[in-house]
Amino acid sequence: MKKIFFLSVLLSSQQIFAQGDPKATEVWSPVPKVVTPGKYFADAPSDAIVLFDGKNLDQWESVKDSTKEAGWKVAGGIMTVDKTKGNIRTKRNFMDYQLHLEYRIPKNITGTGQARGNSGVFLASTGQGDAGYEIQILDSYNNETYVNGQAASVYKQYPPLVNACKKPGEWQTYDIVWTAPRFNEDKSLKSPARVTVFQNGVLVQNNVELKGPTLYIGTPKYTAHGASPIKLQAHGDDSAPISFRNIWVREL
Ligand code: MG
Repeated sequence: MKKIFFLSVLLSSQQIFAQGDPKATEVWSPVPKVVTPGKYFADAPSDAIVLFDGKNLDQWESVKDSTKEAGWKVAGGIMTVDKTKGNIRTKRNFMDYQLHLEYRIPKNITGTGQARGNSGVFLASTGQGDAGYEIQILDSYNNETYVNGQAASVYKQYPPLVNACKKPGEWQTYDIVWTAPRFNEDKSLKSPARVTVFQNGVLVQNNVELKGPTLYIGTPKYTAHGASPIKLQAHGDDSAPISFRNIWVREL
């Protein structure tokens, strides 16, 4: 009886702590070395599913309300985040895949830390809001923040191996190999998710094992799910919205 009481007190105090303090999971050093990337872009190969070809958002829907259009702006071959519309996700679900996307932080970006060009690609969107597994998009060209929240981090889990960011105003690439987590019939974890990421052609995440979904606050913990959409984040900060182009995926 005593033991059960002790356990429940321990659990609730951890939960209170987890709910209250996002700083508890920030890591500030060592700071990833800066690497200047070469020129690298990649057109969709013949077996890819094109998720955005510059023309429309037919492959995407609103996360808030899946009956609604994604609603971000499409013009001049690019899409730009509309923060009033919220996050968007693919209509299709995916398990394991190779993903290519290109993004651009506006040249006139303002703000500091996490409030400077923040977006993100969620490799499996497992629910509303920011639920899922995020590779961070942020202006980290010359912008200090916690290293496990800078661009190309697995948010709050792994800082990038190096900082391969280009200047605001330049197009940048992510090439991602995602292995979805697997779950047993009783919903326990069978094998964790793994991810490899190249930013601008430079390896920044090398087959890392995720601890669970990427959380703003608290310790990650897996919840069973199957194939899931890919999600792009409309982050609620005041800096100018970022843009995307040339997004494609190859199922593995
Ligand atoms: Mg983000």
